[in-house]
Amino acid sequence: MINITLPDGSERQVDSGTTALDVAMSISEGLARNVLAAEVNGEVWDPQRPIRTDATLKLLTWKDEAGKSTMWHSSAHLLAEALEALYPGVKFWVGPPIENGFYYDVDFGDQTITDNDFGAIESKMMELAKQKNPFVRSEMSKADAIAYFTEKEDAYKLDLLEGLEDGTITFYKQGNFTDLCRGPHMPHTGFVKAAKVMSIAGAYWKGDEKNKQLTRVYGITFPKKQELNAYLELLEQAKARDHRKLGKEMDLFHFSEKVGQGLPLWLPKGADLRMRLESFLKEAQRKAGYEPVITPHIGNKELYITSGHYAKYGEDSFQPINTPAEGEEYLLKPMNCPHHCEIFKARPRSYRDLPVRFAEFGTVYRYEQSGELHGLTRVRGFTQDDAHIFCTVDQVKEEVGKVIDLVLYIFRTLKFEDFIAQVSLRDPENPEKYIGKDENWDKAERAIQEIADEKGLRTVVELGEAAFYGPKLDFMVRDAIGRKWQLGTVQIDYNLPERFELEYTGADNTKHRPVMIHRAPFGSMERFVAILIEHCAGKFPLWLTPEQVKILPISDRFNEYAESVSKVLENHDIRALVDDRSEKVGKKIRDAELEKVPYMLILGESEAHDGTVSVRKQGEGDVGGMSVEAFAELIQSEIAEMLK
Ligand SMILES: [Zn+2]
Ligand SMILES: [Zn+2]
Repeated sequence: MINITLPDGSERQVDSGTTALDVAMSISEGLARNVLAAEVNGEVWDPQRPIRTDATLKLLTWKDEAGKSTMWHSSAHLLAEALEALYPGVKFWVGPPIENGFYYDVDFGDQTITDNDFGAIESKMMELAKQKNPFVRSEMSKADAIAYFTEKEDAYKLDLLEGLEDGTITFYKQGNFTDLCRGPHMPHTGFVKAAKVMSIAGAYWKGDEKNKQLTRVYGITFPKKQELNAYLELLEQAKARDHRKLGKEMDLFHFSEKVGQGLPLWLPKGADLRMRLESFLKEAQRKAGYEPVITPHIGNKELYITSGHYAKYGEDSFQPINTPAEGEEYLLKPMNCPHHCEIFKARPRSYRDLPVRFAEFGTVYRYEQSGELHGLTRVRGFTQDDAHIFCTVDQVKEEVGKVIDLVLYIFRTLKFEDFIAQVSLRDPENPEKYIGKDENWDKAERAIQEIADEKGLRTVVELGEAAFYGPKLDFMVRDAIGRKWQLGTVQIDYNLPERFELEYTGADNTKHRPVMIHRAPFGSMERFVAILIEHCAGKFPLWLTPEQVKILPISDRFNEYAESVSKVLENHDIRALVDDRSEKVGKKIRDAELEKVPYMLILGESEAHDGTVSVRKQGEGDVGGMSVEAFAELIQSEIAEMLK
C-alpha cells in the first residue's frame, strides 16, 4: 500500500500502481471525467500513469494552468494526426503548448497549405477527437526509437533523439499517430469539443535562418464549444482595441521606415498624453521623496562592462560608437542603473543620507529582431519611468512599502482594478545560483512578503523566479477584456552595489554596502501607453485625455459664443476645442464620439442667450443644461476626485 496526500491535506491508502484517475474516480465520477493531468510529487503526469510510491497528488482540470497546457499540448498531437491523414508524408518537428493554444512545426515537403485549408483540418481534428482515442505511453530503448524513425525517414525526430539519453525515451500513440514525446497528455482525444486552426507562419528549423523553413501551424482547442466562441469574440474585441489601430485613428504616434524600425515618433496629441502621465508621476514621486536626475543616452563601454550589461546586451546588440581621434568606445544606454550608481558615488555617503532615491525618465536602447517588434509594446528605443533607491538592509521593507503605495495610486487613477502581485523568491534547490549573503536574502524575502501582506495585496509566490541578484515583486494586471499584463516591477539588487563598490559610512564609522532597489511603476512609457489604450479602448480618464471637451455650435452664428465658452474653460485649465466647421451638429457629435472626447457642449440660440451650455457625455448622451461656470466646476471636481 502507498499513501496519497491530497491538496486539502487528507490522506488515503491505496494499492501501489493506483493511477490519479482511479483516485479521481473514488472521489466522484464527474471529477474523473474532467481530469486532464495530475501533479504527482510536484511533477505533471499522465493521469493514467501508475503511482508506485507515497505521493502528494493534485488533480488538474481545465481550470488549472498545467491542466490547460496539457490539453493544448495533447491537441498538438491531434493536429499532427489530422495533418498526417490529410497530407501523407508530412514530417514533424516540435509541438508545444503556448499562452493561447499550441503550434506544431511541420515540413509539408512538396505540398502546400493555405488559410483555405484550415476548415478541412479542423473537421478532421474533430472527427478524430470524437473517436476518444486514448494517448498510450510506452517506453522505448534508444536503439529501437532510432530504428523506428530511420524506417520512417524522419530526420527531425532522429535529430531530437540525438539529444536524449537511453532509458528516458517515451513514445505516445493516439489513433494512428505515434510521436516521440516526454508527455504528459490528457487521457483521450475526446476532451476536445472545439478546435480552430488560427494561422500559419514560416519558422526556420531550430530558429536558425540557415536551416530549412518549416511551416508553423497555430491552433487552439477547448473543452466546450461556447468557450471557443467566447475566445473568438475576445479576439474581435482585442482587434478593435489594438493600440496600433487606435494610435493611428487618434493621431497619437507614428512609425517611419526612414527613421528606423521600432523607433516610435510621438505626434502632438500622443506627446501631450505622455507628458501628462510623466508630470503626474513626477508630482507623486516628488511627494514620495524622490530626487530627479538626468543622465546621457550613451555611456563608455567600460561602464557597461563594470555593470555586466555589456555581457548581456553588448555583442548581439547595437554596436559601439567610436571616436576615431581618441579611440574611445561608447554604447547606447541599455539601462539607467549604471549611471545612477555613478551618481551615488559622486560623493561620500553616510547612513544619515539614506535612503536616497534617484528618479529619471531615462531613454534606453535595445536591439530587438525586426520580426519581434510590435507597435509600442516591443520597440528598440523606449523611456523607462526609472528610479533607484539606495538604502540599508533594514530600510528595504519600508521602501518597498512606499513603492507599493505609489503603484496602487497609479492603478487607482488609471482604473486598473484587477491585479495581483507576484513575489519572486530564490529556488531553494539551487542556492548557489544567487549572489549576495544568505542572511540579506532571507531578510529581503521576508520583508517583501510581509509588506505585501500589510498593504493588503493579493499575492502569489513563485519559487525560483527571483533574479540572480535579488528577489522581486511584479504587478500583474488584468485589462478590461481580461488579458494579463505585467506592469510595475520592484527589484532588490545585491549585485550592482558590489560591482560598483558602492559604500556608505555607518553609525559605527565603518564602510557598508547599500542595497539597491530598481523600480518602474509604468515599466516604459511606450508599453504603458499601449496597454492603457487597449485597456480603456482609447477612452482615457478625463484628467489624462488630450482633449477633454469639444464645443459644438449648431451653426456658424454661434461660433463667437463658442469661442467665449472656450476662453472660460481655458481659464479653468480645461482642454477644450471648438468644432466650427460648417457641418450639421449631428455629424459633429458623431465625430466627437469617434475621437472619444469625454464631454461635448452643444450651443444654440437659447444657450447663447442665457449664457449656458447643453452638456453631452461620451457614451451616455444628454446630461442637461448648466452655466459655463457650473460646467467648469463639474469637470474640475471630477478630476480632483480621480487624482485624490
Ligand atoms: Zn506530446
Ligand atoms: Zn535599474
